[in-house]
Amino acid sequence: MRIGIDVGGTNFRLGVFSGLDLIWEKRFEADFAGLCNKADDPLADIVATIASAIAEALENFPDAAAVGIGFPGFIDPVTGRLASSPNLPNLRDVDLAKPLAGRFNIPFSLENDALAAAYGEHVLGGAESMIYVGLGTGVGGGLILKGKPYPGEGGVAMEIGHIIVERAGRACGCGNSGCLEQYASATGISRTYFDFAGSHLAAREIAALAEGGDPVALAAFDLAANMLGCALSHVLKVIDVSHVVIGGGLSQSWHLMEKTFLARLEADLIPVLRGKVDIRVSASADKAGMLGAAYCSLKS
Ligand SMILES: [Zn+2]
Repeated sequence: MRIGIDVGGTNFRLGVFSGLDLIWEKRFEADFAGLCNKADDPLADIVATIASAIAEALENFPDAAAVGIGFPGFIDPVTGRLASSPNLPNLRDVDLAKPLAGRFNIPFSLENDALAAAYGEHVLGGAESMIYVGLGTGVGGGLILKGKPYPGEGGVAMEIGHIIVERAGRACGCGNSGCLEQYASATGISRTYFDFAGSHLAAREIAALAEGGDPVALAAFDLAANMLGCALSHVLKVIDVSHVVIGGGLSQSWHLMEKTFLARLEADLIPVLRGKVDIRVSASADKAGMLGAAYCSLKS
């Protein structure tokens, strides 16, 4: 039995796995970005929040053998430390796993959230080599090459959310501007809608409007789809894998993006790659992030 935790923008989910079977799951509300802006020692608060969730899981499943955490940020593949996190700017070069391991007598591992989800998708029957794109509060990416997650030498491989798609565009938490995640994430779609319509709505509210045919809401999803198609076409020219899985909360609205995305992707791919990339929405109901986090430490 292993425990996997998938940390998102406004909550985190904890799953207990017996093999590949999810036998227990709980969602915990947690605004870590808000904590980072307010708390004196956000790391201590984040550790305490995650620790209380783990304590609850271990009470129910004391035989769990390990805990893996998928966390949004650049994880040093050698030290396992969180180098930085664009959406949690106060956390720099910190060790999340060590203080948690100090509280529980159980091994801990930390992995980038999107890479963990990529590994989870692969383990659940995905292709040997594949790209995972997580559309949520931000835009994450993970690469599996011949069955193994590839974090890069500095833990930054496949950070497609920070591909610059608009010169001098919207400011991004990574320090640059015009990054993909400022347009193609839930936050980005809200921002686009605000720019077009002047009112603040959550992405799911904009999706509901788009489904009703609202032209401004449809345009916000169109812009996101265009930016994503453009960025992914360049990634595929460099990485040349044939399988892409789209996941994350915003993938529930993929039908609002798919047509524009595919048109832009095909137009921007080099002709030899056109029509050869299998793009599909995750069928794991967001279980992949927890599963991959739980098993990433066993990958090599
Ligand atoms: Zn960025």
